[in-house]
Amino acid sequence: MNPPDILISEVGPRDGLQSVKGTMPTADKLRWIDALYAAGVREIEVASFVPARLLPQMADAADVVRHAVTLPGLTVMALVPNRKGAEAALAAGAHKLTMPVSASVAHSLANVRKTREEMVEEVRAVSDLRREIAPHVKLEAGISTAFGCTLQGDVPEDDVIQLAAQCIAAGADESGLSDTVGYANPAQVRRLFRRLRAEIGDKAGAAHMHNTRGLGLANCLAAYEEGVRTFDASLGGLGGCPYAPGASGNVVTEDLVFMFEAMGVRTGIDIQKLIAARSPLIAGLPGEPVYGMTPEAGLPKGFMQGTVHV
Ligand code: ZN
Repeated sequence: MNPPDILISEVGPRDGLQSVKGTMPTADKLRWIDALYAAGVREIEVASFVPARLLPQMADAADVVRHAVTLPGLTVMALVPNRKGAEAALAAGAHKLTMPVSASVAHSLANVRKTREEMVEEVRAVSDLRREIAPHVKLEAGISTAFGCTLQGDVPEDDVIQLAAQCIAAGADESGLSDTVGYANPAQVRRLFRRLRAEIGDKAGAAHMHNTRGLGLANCLAAYEEGVRTFDASLGGLGGCPYAPGASGNVVTEDLVFMFEAMGVRTGIDIQKLIAARSPLIAGLPGEPVYGMTPEAGLPKGFMQGTVHV
């Protein structure tokens, strides 16, 4: 059995759930994660280790990680903003840590109340910690607002690339680029990922695209054409952008998988089972809008996935 051509990293249980008002009960989160796994998803960002008073949606982060690590072959990711969060995530058994490092000065202060330089030092502290107590755990630095920022507006490309290089120098294993507010366009995506690869080589990480202005899939395709092979996405596009009412936030996993599979790029994910994984999501968050063109329209007549790895 050949491995898939690309890795779809599902971020709904973290990125999606922390952007919505409601709190999904733990049992529903676990059912949702199980359904994603059953569809063939092999990397899931399951939780964020931040103080529960800031994000009550993530109060059960440790329980969720402890369940997810029982699924064989699944890479369990957790977002950590600092060393304290990393300690908790490692204690729960997370396989991979991801840290948000904002390229926008204004966004960094607003989001984590730290300067970019201070966040690079946090990356260093977390990298040192995992080297000490869990050397097998991978560390990713996701450069947020890499394509523009609602607070600052333009974010200089030099800042983005330099910051990614600093995170790698501080000990991160990979650094990807996030279109946190949905400003990116395909030409910009190609340019920035090309520069990223020139700067940090195969430590260039995932494309995290948002669909706020309808360009999410186009941006993923542009990143793919620049050699990116890991794509973040959220089932049902969960995590609507607060700056664009009615618009989906994260790229919709179902549509992304359909696009790649239709092109013959194997994701390892069974689309029918992926669409079925919407049920526990909807059950756990009643009234929350879920997006996606493929689930609405259905698969084309006679559509066959090349090779399904589940
Ligand atoms: Zn996102």
